[in-house]
Amino acid sequence: MPDARPLVALIGNPNTGKTTLFNRLTGSRAKVGNYAGITVDRRTGTLKLPSREVDLLDLPGAYSLAARSPEEQITIEAVLGLDDEPAPALSVVVVDAGQLLRNLYLVLQLLELEVPIVVAVNMIDEVDDPVPVEGLRKVLGVPVVPLSARAGTHVDDLIAAIEAGLKTPPTPKLEVTYPDGLSSQLAEVEEALPGDWRDGASPGRRRALARWALSSLDEHDELRHIPPSLRERCLAVSADLDVDEAIISARYRFLDDHVGPLVAPEGVPTSGSRRVTRMTDRVDRVLLHPVWGFAIFVAVMLAVFQVLFSWSDPFIGLIEDGFSFLGDLTRNNLPGGVGTDLLVEGVIGGVGNVVVFLPQIVLLFLLLGLLEDSGYMARAAYLMDRIMKSLGLHGRAFVPMLSGCACAIPAIMATRTMERQRDRLLTMLVIPLMTCSARLPVYTLVIAALFPVGTVGGVFPVQGLLMVFMYVFSTLVALAAAGVLGRTVVKGRRMPLLLELPPYRLPTLRSVLRQTAERASSFLKEAGTVILFFTIVLWALLSFPKPDTPAPLAQPAVAGWQHAVQGEAFDVSEAADNSAAVDAYRGEALATSAAGRVGHAIEPVMRPLGFDWKLSVGILGAFSAREVFVSTMGLIYGIGDEVDEESQPLREKIHEAKHADGTPVYTPLVGLSLMIFFALACQCMSTLAVVKRETKGWKWPSFLFVYMTSLAYVASLLVYQGGRLLGFG
Ligand code: GDP
Ligand code: MG
Repeated sequence: MPDARPLVALIGNPNTGKTTLFNRLTGSRAKVGNYAGITVDRRTGTLKLPSREVDLLDLPGAYSLAARSPEEQITIEAVLGLDDEPAPALSVVVVDAGQLLRNLYLVLQLLELEVPIVVAVNMIDEVDDPVPVEGLRKVLGVPVVPLSARAGTHVDDLIAAIEAGLKTPPTPKLEVTYPDGLSSQLAEVEEALPGDWRDGASPGRRRALARWALSSLDEHDELRHIPPSLRERCLAVSADLDVDEAIISARYRFLDDHVGPLVAPEGVPTSGSRRVTRMTDRVDRVLLHPVWGFAIFVAVMLAVFQVLFSWSDPFIGLIEDGFSFLGDLTRNNLPGGVGTDLLVEGVIGGVGNVVVFLPQIVLLFLLLGLLEDSGYMARAAYLMDRIMKSLGLHGRAFVPMLSGCACAIPAIMATRTMERQRDRLLTMLVIPLMTCSARLPVYTLVIAALFPVGTVGGVFPVQGLLMVFMYVFSTLVALAAAGVLGRTVVKGRRMPLLLELPPYRLPTLRSVLRQTAERASSFLKEAGTVILFFTIVLWALLSFPKPDTPAPLAQPAVAGWQHAVQGEAFDVSEAADNSAAVDAYRGEALATSAAGRVGHAIEPVMRPLGFDWKLSVGILGAFSAREVFVSTMGLIYGIGDEVDEESQPLREKIHEAKHADGTPVYTPLVGLSLMIFFALACQCMSTLAVVKRETKGWKWPSFLFVYMTSLAYVASLLVYQGGRLLGFG
């Protein structure tokens, strides 16, 4: 007899302890975590039963079989035997003892499909009351084994149950009552099932397969191995009725009726969830409260932001000082010339441009990591789901969107926690609209240069209000964009958020630190290469060809914008004595440089937005990365790398720039138009690069670029022309 080892699969909702159990049963050391999305691929090991060895398969978590994500797909295909692999001889469904009702939904689906299963009720160490083993066994008709995978209690019982289950596969007897209205539709779908699904299947399983197909397949699902004819049939049948709601609520009603009484003592409202047995539940009563929960959520987020901006400040200052020191050191110790210019302005300036964001990114991910690990993020997702849902966004989308306030690159990578490609895509398309920290130096410069220092009503400072306005504006635009894109370009059926609420646990600092380090280094890699490259290219375009006149002694700009991050000084200028000569030389050099010529060439297109050729050069340069704008304007206005309060700062140069007829070049209206443009335009090569990598193609990055940039152009046009009609600027 050849060694035909039977296959046993571990399946269950995310975060129920499948991998912990897998490790215990096989003696391996796979990674466990307190968040969905840790196991994203199938993994096998050997389980030694008393009589023989079997292959044990650890699968990614699935909330239900109706999901469409790549990870859940691995699970669904494996368990149903839809792919080329044989279906497992037995599946162990792992459920959390504290979340029985919610977790049993998946069990119910598997039982309907007549998949042979054993139910492992895990984490009994966390509940006070014993698991109603007998009652559950009666309702479900399959073996139920309470255990603790982490502590190792009763794991032997599970091994015995697996051994027995392989000898005589459990045969469930379970009848969920579905609305009569569905049966004719189900019959139609059943006819379209492919032959090999129907062969040998009992009538009950065939009907269950039809139900599964009807609630899982639509034009946007991402399941493979599905015959097109079946998908078409499902679409045709489900066009005019809300199948999902009907099927899902029938299953929950079954669970409420049959399992509810087992887990909830009389008098305690269950609200379809679980019994109040743990500290977690008491805390959740407050944190998930529609009013208090929301207030606490807002407070937590405000605290995160406050910490983000105030704690990162000294580090940003240090990094700036470090890089300008390095620039000075290099310049003072190397002979002047193109090579030194390139090193100081291109390389050191370019690296500084990137590294200066690191403090905010590290802090953000440290804080979010701690919140995530503690279990709070899942609550926040639950709270936000109602708002996000109305906009077509996934409840989990808000963490990545929040991260977008630091930088879109790690935020886009954080969309991986969402199961469905469609949800990921929609979130990716709106993240770049959030006010990332690269926009701050631009806003700070424009606000400082073109808006008065006064107050509104004697209380609110104009400049601070404008900054707040830009944040609110971009958040509203991002949400509105999600609403529109989710109904047009990335349409998809709304999926109910079946979110597991992990119990609160003390965060493990080591894993949070490791994750933060991973995100930070991927940011440096991604942004570093792109920003550095474009800073050098831009430097070259602004520096060549050089005019014939000899250059006066000059101290060119390094990264003058960096001071803007702190909102203080743009007072970056060289020694006063030769500044006039330097300015004259710069003016000529700039006008004749490659970038200067391009600026003149595109000026007609930018004029209607209020931008002259100099701003056009700056904007063009900023398409590589936004922060490049300030250093470009610095180059254009000939600033040096010395901070000197006495000499004329960039913001004043911009403020005082005059046309030949004496009218100012830049008005507050131009400033507003400029800020709106920066809020909306897709000016970040790194973002496009990441979106390309995550979506595996040029289609979505191209779309992102075109939609954002068109939006920016139109909005700025409206602001500027509208403002002029109203008599401003
Ligand atoms: P998976 O997503 O289903 O693979 O779950 P993991 O195995 O990654 O575990 C999720 C979390 O639950 C981890 O923090 C585990 O340490 C924890 N966990 C797993 N089993 C038990 C258990 O029996 N008792 C308790 N208290 N925690 C457990
Ligand atoms: Mg796992």
